[in-house]
Amino acid sequence: MHQNGFTTTILHSDRSQSVEHGAVHKPMHPSSEYVYEDAHELAAVFQGRSGFTYARQGTPTTTALEARITKMEGGTGTVSFATGMAALAAIFTTLLRRGDHLVSSHFIFGNTNSLLGTLADLGVEVTTVDATDAGQVRAALRPNTRLVFTETIANPGTQIADLVGLGEICREHGLVYVVDNTLTSPWLLRPRDVGASLVMNSLSKYIGGHGHALGGAVTDTGLFDWSGYANIAEAYRKGAPAGWGLTQIKKKGLRDMGATLAAEPAHRIAVGAETLALRMDRHCSNALALARFLQGHAGVAKVHYPGLPCHPQHARAAALLRPGRFGGLLGVELAAGIDCFDFLNHLRIVLNATHLGDTRSLALPAAHTIYYEMGPQRRAEMGIADSLIRVSVGIEDETDLLHDFDQALVAAASR
Ligand SMILES: *Cc1c(COP(=O)(O)O)cnc(C)c1O
Repeated sequence: MHQNGFTTTILHSDRSQSVEHGAVHKPMHPSSEYVYEDAHELAAVFQGRSGFTYARQGTPTTTALEARITKMEGGTGTVSFATGMAALAAIFTTLLRRGDHLVSSHFIFGNTNSLLGTLADLGVEVTTVDATDAGQVRAALRPNTRLVFTETIANPGTQIADLVGLGEICREHGLVYVVDNTLTSPWLLRPRDVGASLVMNSLSKYIGGHGHALGGAVTDTGLFDWSGYANIAEAYRKGAPAGWGLTQIKKKGLRDMGATLAAEPAHRIAVGAETLALRMDRHCSNALALARFLQGHAGVAKVHYPGLPCHPQHARAAALLRPGRFGGLLGVELAAGIDCFDFLNHLRIVLNATHLGDTRSLALPAAHTIYYEMGPQRRAEMGIADSLIRVSVGIEDETDLLHDFDQALVAAASR
């Protein structure tokens, strides 16, 4: 039977259920509360029947977005949050308890690194290892290990974890395998294919794509057997065990902690998601062209990009990601004598701005901004040089981007 592709499916997913008034876009629902003619109905929803009660726990708008993300990831269900960090915090705090152990890649987003510090303060044992080597993850396991966490492509060093190797270790040991898919998005990689139990996506990045809405999502891939997981509360050990993990994340993480995605950003993200594949292809082709151009440039000492054959995990990236695509993020170390601030200030198209996954190209001095708080020692461990520029490559016309980098490098070199 014919199966529709990624973009067709996402574009038409709203109409898999009847849409009010025949509206082509799923209408937005800003209502805080939901009414029932018969109070028994209200009680039934509180007691587990599907339906809406109070918007902190979800609305038709967030539900429609969640269905879209579930389709994109090939999962069994999704819970959305106000931001990606809220989604990660919900996973860790609802699935781990004091005395449990977590193994994480040490090449991770700075704020996630800080969140792991908070978990450690609360009594969760945290070990970070170089997850490009699955052997290091295996060696770090303890009897109390419950969860393994990694990102797909790390930012800004672009290291690629041994995602398949970690998946095998987690399956062997019955560990929850959490993959942050933000840098790849489900268009380049479905973490379910490498054995992930849960997938986190920051919807603020490529999925929303236009830099005007924040959101996060946790998707269950259906691969983990929650019936054997010790930390599921009695109240959520009801119905099919396949749903227990996400139910606990939704009840304890979303309802109780309250970082709910509002209807307006949920709607914007759902619209953005329709063009994910188109944008992502352009981000990737622009990034590859820019990486090749900069690699040969006199003003550049080193380019970190998985699409370059010299990248340490180039072969792994080629095997894991959609063919010919290596993501939209570059790390660029400038040649000695070129001041990174001077270079950035000469860029005309590329914006000096944090964030990534925007349609516009963005650049920042990584050590002085997003990695400033962690200090020089941890930066050195993570391989973040003082002159490292992080570039989130946008969807501009390729020649304009190459020209902008070239003129800024030349201008900064001649100072
Ligand atoms: C941005 C980002 C997050 C956090 O997402 P927010 O939506 O900004 O909270 C988490 N992980 C990665 C890899 C990110 O790039």
